[in-house]
Amino acid sequence: MWGVTGHDKIISHLENSVVNSSLAHSFLITGIDGVGKKELAVALARRLFCQSDDPPCNSCNVCRKIYDTSVRDESIRFKHPDVIYVTWMTEKDEEDSEKTYLKKNAIVIEQIRDIKAQMATAPFEGPARFFIIDHADSMTPGASNALLKILEEPPEYVHFFLLSDKPGNIIDTIVSRCQRIDLLPVPVEIIENHLFENPEYDHDKAVLAAHLSNGAPVKAERFMNDQKWWDTRNSSIAEMLSVVKLSPAARFDYAASFKGQGADKRNSIIDTLDLWLTLWRDILLINVGLSDNVINRDYFADLSGIAEYTLAKDIKNFLFAIKQSMGFIKGNANMQLTMEVLIMDMPVLSSQK
Ligand SMILES: [Zn+2]
Repeated sequence: MWGVTGHDKIISHLENSVVNSSLAHSFLITGIDGVGKKELAVALARRLFCQSDDPPCNSCNVCRKIYDTSVRDESIRFKHPDVIYVTWMTEKDEEDSEKTYLKKNAIVIEQIRDIKAQMATAPFEGPARFFIIDHADSMTPGASNALLKILEEPPEYVHFFLLSDKPGNIIDTIVSRCQRIDLLPVPVEIIENHLFENPEYDHDKAVLAAHLSNGAPVKAERFMNDQKWWDTRNSSIAEMLSVVKLSPAARFDYAASFKGQGADKRNSIIDTLDLWLTLWRDILLINVGLSDNVINRDYFADLSGIAEYTLAKDIKNFLFAIKQSMGFIKGNANMQLTMEVLIMDMPVLSSQK
């Protein structure tokens, strides 16, 4: 519905609110990365603003101005003066320490003051003014308090959409002022069917992308259009498949390759660990005879080869260790040290099962 993949019940509910003119003024939309939080807010704006007979048409000038997917740069896709998108600041400063960078991954009070100034102006073109605040959980305490005051009494024409994959980090007083919409992961069949609609997409690749997206249709779509992502995935898998065969000493040497610092390095290690989680989850599933649920189907033979020579309890321990290490790395721990310890937990292939 509305050109959004999945979430039909929620959209019907919002459709009713639009028809009855009972749309809430503040929404908190939660869900995993890529599940469609921003897409839902965009669709609702189009539903209200689009002048076609059956809004949203998703193709008229108004719809495209609200969110223009023909431009690559995400930050300039929002072109409508009444649909304002605010997100955390991520500009990188080369000589900055990591700490400063992390602080920049935040929504700061100046941005909320800017919203306050903008919302005093009545809509320019549309019937309402939308403020979409992405990564709302990254607001600094000052920004949170400033937003709280704004949410207490917004002008009649203003609607807020706070988007978050970590709603537990938003202060309760803000949450309680919002109508909460929790977007659940979208069933894989629905994502597949959505991808199949595009005649340019390869069928097998679409099936794989849908499974790899873990219920996040926006991610699946991103995968289909990003060959670099597949290249990185393939080389990371190849790397893991070779590390698992190494002796403990050689594994330790490999861990040294994670030496380094900086947010980019940190993010790339987190991506690697994310992939390891899905690979080792698959190995565990094969090991316990639940092969139908394997995600990385294109590497089934390789993963089966590992599953055959590992013990379920070792795999479970390693999965736990990966999750724990991800937490450490996100918390600014020494990357090389963390990886050295983690790699020692990687199950050793044995023939005694
Ligand atoms: Zn339209």
